[in-house]
Amino acid sequence: MSPEQLSIDIKHLQASLAELARIGSLPSGGVCRLAFSPEDKAGRELVASRMHALGLSVHVDGIGNIMGVREGREAGPVVLTGSHIDTVATGGVLDGSLGVVAALEAVAALNEAGVKTRLPVGVISFANEEGARFMPDMMGSLFLRGDLTMEDLRPIAGIDGTMLGDDLDQYGMSGNANLSSFGFHSFVELHIEQGPILERENKSIGVVEGVQGIKWIEFRIEGSTAHAGTTPIELRRDAGYVAGAAVEFVRSLATEIENQRATVGSLTLSPNLVNVVAEEARFTVDLRNPDAKRLLHAEKKLLEFAEAKAAAEGVGMEHRSRADVAPVEFDPQIIALIEAKAESLGYASRRIISGAGHDAQIMADVCPTAMIFVPSRGGISHNIQEYTAARDIEAGANVLLHTLLALAQSE
Ligand SMILES: [Zn+2]
Repeated sequence: MSPEQLSIDIKHLQASLAELARIGSLPSGGVCRLAFSPEDKAGRELVASRMHALGLSVHVDGIGNIMGVREGREAGPVVLTGSHIDTVATGGVLDGSLGVVAALEAVAALNEAGVKTRLPVGVISFANEEGARFMPDMMGSLFLRGDLTMEDLRPIAGIDGTMLGDDLDQYGMSGNANLSSFGFHSFVELHIEQGPILERENKSIGVVEGVQGIKWIEFRIEGSTAHAGTTPIELRRDAGYVAGAAVEFVRSLATEIENQRATVGSLTLSPNLVNVVAEEARFTVDLRNPDAKRLLHAEKKLLEFAEAKAAAEGVGMEHRSRADVAPVEFDPQIIALIEAKAESLGYASRRIISGAGHDAQIMADVCPTAMIFVPSRGGISHNIQEYTAARDIEAGANVLLHTLLALAQSE
């Protein structure tokens, strides 16, 4: 069989996903495999044993990233793929796991066809992508990139009070490999979209161009409490009114600035009583845009508006940044390659920007990187209802396989 005819064994892929999903499975469906938990450990052992069975050399670093390497005709650098197997507390069976299992199936397809690639192909399962138990999220890829050291990480306390270093020791998750010493040629991550766009447009493949930037801004407005019946409007210093105006303005940012998302997800007034003018309002704004300049512009407009509105109402206004993540652009050549592979395999695709964070956005600084998305039914994710049709999973895994093959053969 020529390499062009290779394809993923979808039945085996589905069975492997189901096998992994049994570890930490919830009675209602879905999985709970929090990072550095016994379930995570069991899942990682399954992944490592599958790597060994496929003939990969298996390497584990300090934070517990697991990488299996399939030798190439040349020593390196490694064409890397993979994702994560940790989940949120009520996670689905696909977020993360699909990218690891499909990567292993791609290697299985190469093995069965006896394909020897020029460059090695690596499969990685990143530790603690979700950050649901120990923050920050994308911990494994941040460690690999060199942003965090074990001295930074070991003392981190989890939501249940345990220390990360203690769990690493207890479950024997730490290794001593230096993964970056392998050198990386490229990284491709297959993941579910976690949004509704591909399903709505009936496309099997999302060719991910980048990850949008995020700014979280927390506001506190301080006015004066007053009687709702006796205080004339012009004499009020109404924190609730200023907050409400900001909510309306935030929506207008999303309609006026290209590709802008803008959300007030939390808003509290105090004293929060029906007949009392609010003395204080606290609210958060989540701004996202794939373009750094537009994101900055949105933030500037919001702050200008809030300051002017607060001044006009005579209330105090404070704000602080709670998150500030720059947008990431993926590698144009790998993007074009994924698009070409989807087309030659006959799968409908569209370019898309990731609304969620992924290890790939960290890896984009390490080596040329891109992602492949498959549809999420109803856009649902981080939820036991997560579902992607088998034909879309097959499409995503085949595009991954052929993208890897092209990268690993490439001169
Ligand atoms: Zn994920």
